Amino acid sequence: MGGGSHMLIVMKMDAGSKEVEGVVRQAERSGLKAHPIPGAQRTAVGITGNLGVVDPSGFETLPGVLEIIAVSHPYKLVSREFRPDDSVVVVGGATIGAQDLVIIAGPCSVESYDQTARIARRVKAAGAQILRGGAFKPRTSPYSFQGLGREGLEILKRVRTEVGLPFVTEATDIDVLDEVAEAADMVQIGARNMQNYSLLRRAGRCGKPVLLKRGMTATITEWLLAAEYILDQGNRDVVLCERGIRTFADHTRNTLDVSAIPAVKRISHLPVIADPSHAAGKRRKVRPLSRAAVAVGADGLMVEVHDRPEEALSDGAQALPPDEFDALVREIGDLAPVLGRRVPGLVTKS
Ligand code: PEP
Ligand code: MN
Repeated sequence: MGGGSHMLIVMKMDAGSKEVEGVVRQAERSGLKAHPIPGAQRTAVGITGNLGVVDPSGFETLPGVLEIIAVSHPYKLVSREFRPDDSVVVVGGATIGAQDLVIIAGPCSVESYDQTARIARRVKAAGAQILRGGAFKPRTSPYSFQGLGREGLEILKRVRTEVGLPFVTEATDIDVLDEVAEAADMVQIGARNMQNYSLLRRAGRCGKPVLLKRGMTATITEWLLAAEYILDQGNRDVVLCERGIRTFADHTRNTLDVSAIPAVKRISHLPVIADPSHAAGKRRKVRPLSRAAVAVGADGLMVEVHDRPEEALSDGAQALPPDEFDALVREIGDLAPVLGRRVPGLVTKS
């Protein structure tokens, strides 16, 4: 097996943990890593590491082994070959990647306790299941508002208790990742950090679900390999987020790559959501892009909402006022049954 390839060992239907253990030990003897993947029918074991020097026949003859499949694409743990069923990531009371469409909403930045609490109450009432809000902000300019940092995390924790919404917030740097992971229900890795490999590895060991945004110039292979770094460290709770890529189009902040959503879902078992706000850059495009993303199979949306957008310290132009966010969630709720899905925040209200 050449460079970049790896293999999948499919176990017989009646193989038990003893046989799987045998495969794991054989892998370890060859200096490889084994990743058992229990399935509904049978277990498979993904083998990663440098397979260039390994003779697959060492595995073929082990008890309980049905067949060995050489996998030639560069990602493995994220791929459907390794796990055919959709992964479901649980964040608080929300399940991401199953029938439910998750709605994540909140301000771009945490600006104050009052602002965050007010917006959190509004988005929860509209049907959002997870609050978003940046405490550590990755800003293009060093002169822009950089976020409240640690104080922002404290505000989010207080609002979580008072309003009753789990929250996702970004870890901009390896220095703050552990603090963010400790506080948050889900750790966001931003577009600018998608290929920050030490940060990804650390996120893979942080013990919390990770929301991995697509880099603004990343191909889907690069994006999936970034997710692979996180899974390789033992964290399988990864949700991918398409947030728009940079193209020649100048009518929009970024181009929401809706075609990437079904493409990634075909290759990978990981849930994929869309962030129409950072793609649009302007609030009037957020609703149409949300409908498009859900229509092509996104497992949910992450939307920026602000009740005083003209006073927002970041991204005010793309923030939806709460009444427009209400309308957006209702629209997605109307669309959901056509797609065999539902918006649980709306279902439990009626
Ligand atoms: C964000 O969601 O707060 C953000 C900064 O988005 P992105 O990393 O996609 O630019
Ligand atoms: Mn923003």
